[in-house]
Amino acid sequence: MTGLASSLRGEFPVLGTLSRGHPVVYLDSAATAQKPQVVIDAITRFYAQDYGTIHRGVYQLSERATLAWDAARDRVARFLGAATADEVVFVRGTTEAVNLVAQSYLKPKIKPGAIVLVTEMEHHANIVPWQLVGATTVAIPISDAGELDLSAAERLLAAGCELLAICHVSNALGTINPVAELCRMAKRHGVPVLIDGAQAAPHLPIDVQAIGCDFYCFSGHKVYGPTGIGALWTRQEHLATMSPYQGGGDMIDLVTFEGTTYAPAPRRFEAGTPHIAGAIGLDAALRWLESLDRAALHREEEELLAFGTGLLGEIPGLRLIGTASEKAGILTFVIEGVHPHDIASILDHDGVCIRAGHHCTQPLHRRLGVQATARASLALYSTRADLETLAHGLAKIQRMFN
Ligand code: PMP
Repeated sequence: MTGLASSLRGEFPVLGTLSRGHPVVYLDSAATAQKPQVVIDAITRFYAQDYGTIHRGVYQLSERATLAWDAARDRVARFLGAATADEVVFVRGTTEAVNLVAQSYLKPKIKPGAIVLVTEMEHHANIVPWQLVGATTVAIPISDAGELDLSAAERLLAAGCELLAICHVSNALGTINPVAELCRMAKRHGVPVLIDGAQAAPHLPIDVQAIGCDFYCFSGHKVYGPTGIGALWTRQEHLATMSPYQGGGDMIDLVTFEGTTYAPAPRRFEAGTPHIAGAIGLDAALRWLESLDRAALHREEEELLAFGTGLLGEIPGLRLIGTASEKAGILTFVIEGVHPHDIASILDHDGVCIRAGHHCTQPLHRRLGVQATARASLALYSTRADLETLAHGLAKIQRMFN
């Protein structure tokens, strides 16, 4: 059943190592995904053979680096279904993308009392940047299963807001939100939409045109690429009105002591020497993803999620958090009488890596009435054996504490 995943595992060096003397069982891919050898090789090759800065040098190394940087932008544009590569801004990740939109798009036009509509399941990265520029965040409520209340969304949109900012997939619940439907709804009320795609990009095909959003962002490190690189997609009409919020090299047209004119977008938003190796690694990661049968892998992940849901459901006292009908590979849970940090620490002794805490979703945890949860999350390389090891460890913990 997990044939494809098993065949991919050999491409991830970390998965062949030991942790605390046990084979690594990596179930924290929602935090960050492991890297296939092709990504590691692409980064090493760049530093070893092609390294130079972009745009400035007339020598060949710089030309090669510039070509690779541009090719990476083309690849990201294709990955997102963008109309042109000029609509893609390289950023450090989802967090920086949201901050860029908050500072460059929202801040210049914000008025007292401005509302950014979010959801109860948002990551802090899609809450705090709006508050930093003076907006009030109002949340669309969710059901106990972790699904958005769409009639409440309609009411809140009708009441008026500057922007709707929502995650495509929740990092804590796994819920896949009906983003295209929400964009249509927002459009009827004249509200632009930002979609935080950090957790969707590794699991779902993305098509920003079909979704109908205004902004879409994701992080490279969650799609098997390096840390420190990600992308923001937006339409030219928005880019044209946004002013840069970071100044420096590479983003200018003409600089004088009296004032500065800026380079066209997207360069206007990419001040300073960028993470060139990161973009090259991201290009390699997306090329690797393109080479796979993602539809088959997606089906496999759904089967694996159902398998894991069943296994965890058999553990006495374990309660799954997030049971939406549309879900990506995330299994968040609590076990009665055991702190999630204890669960994660004890599992670690057997080489099992899961996350415990609030997963940067404190308002969600408050809404659910829990301080912290444990989370196991799946990736393309996850197998039934990983989940069996997890379930075995959890059953042991349950017996130990009760
Ligand atoms: N949004 C969601 C839904 C996430 O899961 C994450 C990462 N945990 C982020 C935003 C922030 O991503 P990054 O830390 O890569 O900027």
